[in-house]
Amino acid sequence: MPASTAGRVGLVVVSHSRALARAAVALAQEMLHGRRVPIEIAAGLDDTTFGTDAGQIMRAIKAADRGAGVLVLMDLGSAVLSAELALELMDDAARDRVLLCPAPLVEGLIVAAVAAAGAATLPEVAAEAAAALAGKTSHLAAGTPETAATAATADGADAEPDELAGAFTVTNPHGLHARPAARVVQAVRMLDARVRLRNRTTDSAWVPASSLSKLATLGVLRGHEVEVRVRGRQAREALDHLAALAARGFDEPTEGTPGGAGDRVGDRVGDRVDDRVRDGAREDGRAGGPIAASPGIGIGPARSMRLAPVAVESAWADDSVAHDPETQWRRLMEAVAAVRRDVQRVRARAGRELGEAEAAIFDAHLLLLDDGDLLDDVRSRVDGGQAAAPAWAAAVHRVSAELAAIPDPYLRARAADVTAVGDQVLRALLGAPTRHPTPAGVLVTGDLTPAEAAELDPSRVAAVVQAFGSPMAHAAIMLRARGIPAVVAAGPGVLSIPDGTLLAVDGTRGELVVDPAAEVRAAFRARAADLARRQRRAVAAAASPAVTRDGVQVLVGANLGSVADAAVAAACGADLAGLVRTEFLFLGRAQAPGVDEQEAVYRQIAEALGGRRITLRTLDVGGDKPLGYLPMPAEANPFLGVRGIRLALGRPELLADQLLAMVRVAHNVPVSVMFPMVSTLDELLRARGMLDDAIKLAGRGEPPGLHVGIMVEVPAAAAKARAFAPHVDFFSIGTNDLTQYALAAERGNSAVASIGDALDPGVLHLVDAVCRGAGAALVAACGELAADERAAAVLVGLGVRELSVTPRAVPLIKQAVRCLDSRDAAATAAAALDAPSADAVRALLA
Ligand code: PEP
Ligand code: MG
Repeated sequence: MPASTAGRVGLVVVSHSRALARAAVALAQEMLHGRRVPIEIAAGLDDTTFGTDAGQIMRAIKAADRGAGVLVLMDLGSAVLSAELALELMDDAARDRVLLCPAPLVEGLIVAAVAAAGAATLPEVAAEAAAALAGKTSHLAAGTPETAATAATADGADAEPDELAGAFTVTNPHGLHARPAARVVQAVRMLDARVRLRNRTTDSAWVPASSLSKLATLGVLRGHEVEVRVRGRQAREALDHLAALAARGFDEPTEGTPGGAGDRVGDRVGDRVDDRVRDGAREDGRAGGPIAASPGIGIGPARSMRLAPVAVESAWADDSVAHDPETQWRRLMEAVAAVRRDVQRVRARAGRELGEAEAAIFDAHLLLLDDGDLLDDVRSRVDGGQAAAPAWAAAVHRVSAELAAIPDPYLRARAADVTAVGDQVLRALLGAPTRHPTPAGVLVTGDLTPAEAAELDPSRVAAVVQAFGSPMAHAAIMLRARGIPAVVAAGPGVLSIPDGTLLAVDGTRGELVVDPAAEVRAAFRARAADLARRQRRAVAAAASPAVTRDGVQVLVGANLGSVADAAVAAACGADLAGLVRTEFLFLGRAQAPGVDEQEAVYRQIAEALGGRRITLRTLDVGGDKPLGYLPMPAEANPFLGVRGIRLALGRPELLADQLLAMVRVAHNVPVSVMFPMVSTLDELLRARGMLDDAIKLAGRGEPPGLHVGIMVEVPAAAAKARAFAPHVDFFSIGTNDLTQYALAAERGNSAVASIGDALDPGVLHLVDAVCRGAGAALVAACGELAADERAAAVLVGLGVRELSVTPRAVPLIKQAVRCLDSRDAAATAAAALDAPSADAVRALLA
């Protein structure tokens, strides 16, 4: 039986990284040789997202407290602030039993664990841990010729006696702007050293290197020389580190290289925007945007999703009563912590999708949230009797005014960052509304969730420009469904475009022009007029079938995600609903809909479509579409995990209900039941078996018009079409997922969006395999490729006989089919299969 941990001091490990914390604990446990110490982890926002959270720390402290107290060990920066906040939030009795340990995390944890296992008291454990570095320090000092106390470089003529001195020249194109400055701050904050800097070229005053806002006031431009003075135990390391960082250009991509600072729209904004066209088809082959995501043209003023600044009066109104400084400070720290979590999430996403260099822009925002200079200013205002909100507003105003006074336009633009982050904190502090009314104009945003995309009012939004995202993400699908032109993956630079700047967006070609000249505006308007003309012609003929010039009928169906979509589909002349994404019924609620509710909704869809066939896809969740009431274990690779039919077969009660509802409806209208994400024949046979059970349960025999089919989204399923064919009435090719799996390019990830191209010949070969293996079964396509007018030739040429598209695209796709000759299309398709690249296929189709 393991030894009891009662009476032992507990330990809590606070780190930005859960993986790091777990590894550190495993290492410490190695030293305990089976003895037990309560050690809890409060690390990361989840398994992969870096961050710290005061609530998590409080819970960990509670769990580690067995009555003898708790020592908290932290890594750096906001880990310390979050731990302090956690303590402030605890009641006095509990707080008295907790100590925060200044020791470095790994050394401190190991020593503390050993001491705690030996039944040391909390002060003893804390003292042991605090001295944890002694061994390493004395070892290294013994072999170091120069120590911080004695060394001074040749530069250090006027350095104080215990200071090291040095200098570096900044070669970055925009000088020491937010990102390189953030690298400086991060570097010096990791070391036990006090570093001050000054701009020797402009003869500026000295500022602490640990303050991002102060660094920005140095106004360091390319070619400027920066003087450094360092004191403290790790002064030498700090000096060396800064010299190395400067030599590496502060790890910023150099101008002209992919992702280089000079390549972003935002940089041009700082320099006053010019008229260059940003084109989705990049010559350098780099994954990057803007990329066409929803067809159409939109011209209008830039509107961010940022809310209007919080009324200053409401911040100051709070000032009329006397304030307890401790309460005010705690409220502020809570608000800062909440905003930090938000920014960390956005940063994590940017890192995943765009890479570290681009994500680092958010580090500047994070550093502002624990900027010593800013917080000291707020603290002294709060201690002087001001309420948190006005104190924060005034301090932020001071910092952004200092930045705004700098002559360099790029650094001056950073004032906007400070104001935006400051505003976010103020909002959190005052509980101000965080919902965004739909702005009128071109919406510029980081990324939209499908829900946000669904809420936009198409009559107000001329177009959407997303910094991140991909055309196959569900938000983009939603925008297409709503007829809102959009480009995605335009890069975080677009987030700095000032509100009101005129933007021209071509969501068909993937173009964004900032502040377009008159002739560019005229060209975009001409394109819009041409599109409108073609659309009018197509709409006039929408109710007629789509038949090629040589008499081959191709069904054109609609993809639906709501009952309202069904009405639009009927109005647009859809021959059927080729895909009903039934997830819409299951998402955003506390529990799954019952059989009756599902039946009622499916009937409403059928009615709206006037009795035309409806293809009901069984629940396709998992991966990017998690359900709150269906907890799924965290998966390292959710897109390769339990999703689609895998999840449905694992939760047969959900699938059984859904099939029963579908069967009931099928007794009255033609219904196709479609299973998503099928990989193996066994999955299909099990699902078909459950459908047979549902038919028996409904008790009226087999519904007359019931068809059964699978989505082909997994490359292996495409290759095995011949094996599936005897068991299905149709195949429906989901080119969105098929493309992501065939090209190993995650569909929502803007960094690989240009690789995940559905016209890649590799994907087309899979479509061809399905058509050749399908036998008598119908082959449909319901991914976004089907809605691309140019792709109709290749799909029809390969043998696809149903195209299911977003409802508004139905008329244009019907028109595209009518322009085809199926024999010419077959020749085009054969050439496309032999083409070397997606671009080559596009050239064939042009
Ligand atoms: C697809 O994968 O192509 C598809 C139509 O399904 P969804 O986009 O809903 O995943
Ligand atoms: Mg899919």
